Amino acid sequence: MIYWDHNSTTPCAPEVIEAMKPYWDHEYGNPSSSHIMGRRASTAIRKAREQVANLANALPSEIIFTSGATESNNLLFLGILLTPKTDRNRIVVSSIEHKSILEPVRLLAEHGFEVLKLPVSECGVTDLNAAKELINGKTLLVSVQGANNELGTLQPVCQLAEIAHTNGAYFHTDAAQVLGKISFNTELFNCDFASFSAHKMYGPKGIGALFIRGGAKQWPWSRPFGGGGQESGLRPGTQNVPGIVGFGMACEISQHYITNQNNNPIHHLEKILIQKLFESFPTGHFVTRNTPRLPGVVAFSFPNISADLLMDNIKTLCIGKGSACTNGAISQSHVLNAIGYSHDFSRGTFRVSLGRETDLNEIQESIILIQNAFHDVQRISKQNEK
Ligand code: PMP
Repeated sequence: MIYWDHNSTTPCAPEVIEAMKPYWDHEYGNPSSSHIMGRRASTAIRKAREQVANLANALPSEIIFTSGATESNNLLFLGILLTPKTDRNRIVVSSIEHKSILEPVRLLAEHGFEVLKLPVSECGVTDLNAAKELINGKTLLVSVQGANNELGTLQPVCQLAEIAHTNGAYFHTDAAQVLGKISFNTELFNCDFASFSAHKMYGPKGIGALFIRGGAKQWPWSRPFGGGGQESGLRPGTQNVPGIVGFGMACEISQHYITNQNNNPIHHLEKILIQKLFESFPTGHFVTRNTPRLPGVVAFSFPNISADLLMDNIKTLCIGKGSACTNGAISQSHVLNAIGYSHDFSRGTFRVSLGRETDLNEIQESIILIQNAFHDVQRISKQNEK
């Protein structure tokens, strides 16, 4: 199997699996228990909180563990929803946010908040002029992702944070696709809140975090959940110790990966992939060419062919066809829609996200697989036309 869908999820790094093992096995103490096994579990959580905080240049007290970026995003918006409304009730998000932002803000709109969506360029970058117009003194929160999961495009987070702050609004970024892939620094990005996910960065699934500047005591809204008070009362419930430990280790090894970013082979592999795609399919379209992107993320469109059909004919290559979280649902990707793609063009678009384990052999093999499938699909379509 060749796996090229790392924006959907990544494998767990071997170091992560090793770090988690004891907590699935003999170290099963509840971190809230005061006996020795409980204390060992809570020490493991403390270490992991430091590892996550180090990678994001945050304080450990500013990291609240959740089940992933979806929950972190929902926690933020549910907090707002449950807090008595004031005159500041405008929420500004980009139109290419993940559904775990777009769905909660739809709920806010149903409850009387003014929700505005920022347009994006044809390459999938949030429009800063629109942001300057729409973010004003009535804005409570601006939320724009660090990088888009389908296109990989980096968003102008620092500038957006500045516009938000100038207008007295909070700034949140969904950094699920950024943390562990490129440098993410809560100070430099100047965000008040940020959402993280472990399984996008070689950690386990079902664990993530919400960064809150100043920690839980600075949380400005109601607390949506009640329970045993864990995670400073913001995410109560017995913590997922193996998951948290794995997330911590994933952050530690990512630190090394990011520090060596300039020598990262993924840049070279991506160049070769793009070159080979154009050699094989000169009429193809590279959606985000010349746009700053996450390394190894290439959204490529084949005119007049269905990416679904193409992928059905390649059994040994895993590539995304739109957001993984919406796979299975036969609807046009809202991201491709936002960059102005027609339904037909979107049908022919697939998304490659290379990973740390991708090598040159994989690129060569996959190009042949795609070429063969492309010709098979064309042959079948011609036969059907007859
Ligand atoms: N936000 C973005 C930008 C994502 O790419 C994803 C995962 N597709 C999520 C949020 C959801 O993350 P999780 O699976 O951790 O809930």
